[in-house]
Amino acid sequence: MIVVLSRGISSYDKELVRIYLRDRGFAVRDQQFGDDEVIGAAGKGVLDLRELGLLPGVERVAATSKPYELASRETKAEDTIVSVGGSGGMVKIGGSRITVIAGPCAVESREQIRETAARVRESGAVLLRGGAFKPRSSPYAFQGLGMKGLEYMKEAGDAEGMPIVTEVVSPEYVVEMKDLTDMFQIGARNMQNFALLKKVGSVGKPVLLKRGPSATIEEWLLSAEYLLAAGTNDVVLCERGIRTFETYTRNTLDISAIPVVKTLSHLPVIVDPSHAVGIRAKVAPAALAAIAAGADGLTVEVHPRPDEALSDGPQSLYPEQFEKLMRDIEALAPVVGKELLRTPRPEGTAAGRRGGPQAGSLFEGFTALPVAYNGESGAFAEQALMRIFGEDVKRRQVQSFKEVFDAVLDGSVCAGVMPAENSLSGSIHENYDLFLRYPDIAIVGELKLRIVHCLIGDEHARLDTISIVRSHPQGFAQCKEFLDKYPGWQLEACNNTAAAVASIAREGAVKVAAIAGAAAARAHGLKVLKEGIETNPLNYTRFLIISRKISGRDGEWFGNAWVPPSLGSEKPNKASLVFSVPDKPGSLFACLKIMADRGINLSKLESRPIQGKPWEYQFYADVSLPETEGDFALIMEELKTKTEDFRFLGAYRGSL
Ligand code: PEP
Ligand code: MN
Repeated sequence: MIVVLSRGISSYDKELVRIYLRDRGFAVRDQQFGDDEVIGAAGKGVLDLRELGLLPGVERVAATSKPYELASRETKAEDTIVSVGGSGGMVKIGGSRITVIAGPCAVESREQIRETAARVRESGAVLLRGGAFKPRSSPYAFQGLGMKGLEYMKEAGDAEGMPIVTEVVSPEYVVEMKDLTDMFQIGARNMQNFALLKKVGSVGKPVLLKRGPSATIEEWLLSAEYLLAAGTNDVVLCERGIRTFETYTRNTLDISAIPVVKTLSHLPVIVDPSHAVGIRAKVAPAALAAIAAGADGLTVEVHPRPDEALSDGPQSLYPEQFEKLMRDIEALAPVVGKELLRTPRPEGTAAGRRGGPQAGSLFEGFTALPVAYNGESGAFAEQALMRIFGEDVKRRQVQSFKEVFDAVLDGSVCAGVMPAENSLSGSIHENYDLFLRYPDIAIVGELKLRIVHCLIGDEHARLDTISIVRSHPQGFAQCKEFLDKYPGWQLEACNNTAAAVASIAREGAVKVAAIAGAAAARAHGLKVLKEGIETNPLNYTRFLIISRKISGRDGEWFGNAWVPPSLGSEKPNKASLVFSVPDKPGSLFACLKIMADRGINLSKLESRPIQGKPWEYQFYADVSLPETEGDFALIMEELKTKTEDFRFLGAYRGSL
């Protein structure tokens, strides 16, 4: 049941509604449903719906059609984002990130878990898994090290800056384990151990709920409901294969469960490819299929020496295989509109040479001030910004790219996000040129976002009611094949794609449509009439994150550019430069030779006319960075001697 509250209800009246429901035997949860504030109520209590509807501040009461109410999308429209944290830092699951959990099947020794944690962390896993209490099919098999194992695991997680997730097999261990683990795992065999669910749900820690090998999706969601009704808000579902007639693989990975559950529930869904297939060579393909199907993450078994593993060796990946899988996930992520979550490693670990334990995706958690972008709500730049800084980041909308630079420079925002180039239509020169006018602004990061265009209109609009289409000229260019099918449509250019959508929302006409991303339709309450109308689906825009160069801030300088602390383990691997060369034969060659001789890879080189100097050009270059900063500084010094104007725009972590 959902109780929709009136806008502006007082906190006193809201509490009265909660008390009314609780007194009648319902578990209650405050939730947001679109723009409405609602209270989700679950349980078998008896009440008079008319009386409830008459309470002050109650707008209406609606029944839900599903037996699981708190877990249902009917009571909460937005995706739940679960935060898992402890002294090892904070990790989020859900939304537009892909969160990867990795570790051995079981903790076998202090050394084994430390070594595994370091290896998986190096490849980019952000949460550490490992069983201290093992539910084994045979009573004679290794049952785990118990609390000692959990202590070793916590130690390893703390050392690597990884929160830990471990299975609890019985209600009696919950209290003892809760101070050591950051997230409880309910194993497949225990999915319907209701006493365990109630106990674990009541301690309020995040829970990873595996699907039972013979459980239907509805039974699985009802188990999640037990956890939510007992008090926790943070439940992550985990598909780990179900039992079918097929015996080749250990279980059968139910890929279709992912999109189904994402429709039925707001909870994040991750996949355990290891237990699903049970065969090492089949883990990576299953993992990639899960990501392609929309999973919010993975939990993968990795062992430094799988042949010696005390449990599940045959399905455990070698660390090298896991590293390759992570690279493949990083390449796949933008295709499904997501970003692989990275978090910094603590000081003292091999890669953690900078940064404290800040949370999230790229720069997430870095900012108290807002981040600026040019455009309206739902713009692609806003999506990029949320992907980089997290959904909760404060945003400042401005009306031009120059205003993004101005806001960054005057310090009223901590960073700005702006498009630099598109994979189909090339560089946005206007933005590159701004760097020359703002020497105190540096590039500190980049993100590549897949651009999927939609035809968007009023809810009553149809393809045959449309006569005018609005978008940014880039939107028209990228959807040319689709637009060619409708030669009668008149095209009107706008400042940006989201502005085109906003104009239709204001006018509410059925004859006008816009070309923009689906997020813009959602942001302005309009309908997607057709999705994926771009001519070429391999359509990506590269966004740059810009920040003001301030020495003394707790970041550090790399070359000439400030690298924010939250980049953490993400050592810069790419830099951008602008230079011009003397007007004589071989001068560009001399610059390129320096880079070639020093093994610096040039990923982009573009020439641009110099303002006010007809027929003279400057060069924009993106280059790879060598292993050490010192070497790079020397190369840059050498380059300066061969160039006329030389500007270092920043060193940052390239996105794939
Ligand atoms: C595990 O993750 O180690 C495990 C035992 O998984 P499941 O409960 O899915 O079999
Ligand atoms: Mn296992």
